[in-house]
Amino acid sequence: MTKQPDHRHDRHGAHHDHDQHHDHGSELTEMQLRVRALETILTEKGYVDQAALDAIVDAYETKIGPHIGQRVVARAWADPAFRKALLADGTAAIAGLGLVSRIGDHLVAVENAPGLHNMVVCTLCSCYPWEVLGLPPVWYKSAPYRARAVKDPRGVLAEFGVTLPADTRIRVWDSTAETRFLVLPLQPAGTEGWSEERLAQLVTRDAMIGTGLPKRPHEAAS
Ligand code: FE
Repeated sequence: MTKQPDHRHDRHGAHHDHDQHHDHGSELTEMQLRVRALETILTEKGYVDQAALDAIVDAYETKIGPHIGQRVVARAWADPAFRKALLADGTAAIAGLGLVSRIGDHLVAVENAPGLHNMVVCTLCSCYPWEVLGLPPVWYKSAPYRARAVKDPRGVLAEFGVTLPADTRIRVWDSTAETRFLVLPLQPAGTEGWSEERLAQLVTRDAMIGTGLPKRPHEAAS
């Protein structure tokens, strides 16, 4: 038993796709073969509806994505009451927006501040807040990111083109099957009073993982 992905994660309805980076050409990995076999059996026995499965896959491929997280962050920037609610209980606050049909067990928003930067990793595998960020980027699941985000966060950030002041503290959050994190970045200066729609354009996926910063005000469409 060399590599046993943690199946507890998959109750979130999303395929964890741990083995994508092992994929060589058309050969299916052992995990893909196992998933396919399981899917076939479940469908044949009538336990799952193929159309329902397709709908879930389609949702994660086309409907659920970082645009949801962008709306959450933009709302938090524009609406202090929502920001407070988000930081107090991310799961409830985001569910209340009605943008997603379901939220994983615990979605925790961690707020950047002057002198404090948050960054998210899953050292164990690839836990990720699918509901608000969609499919995770390949690097998020890579062994180097998972190992180095904890040991050398500043070095990792530099590779993402992010240089923080030397006295800025970096807090690294390790995701688990039970708890996912969403970084609430600092609102860019000069965007006070902007509409949520306009603010959302400044929010990047990486800024919500903590490996990036929001765009500058001039990068938003007017
Ligand atoms: Fe994981």
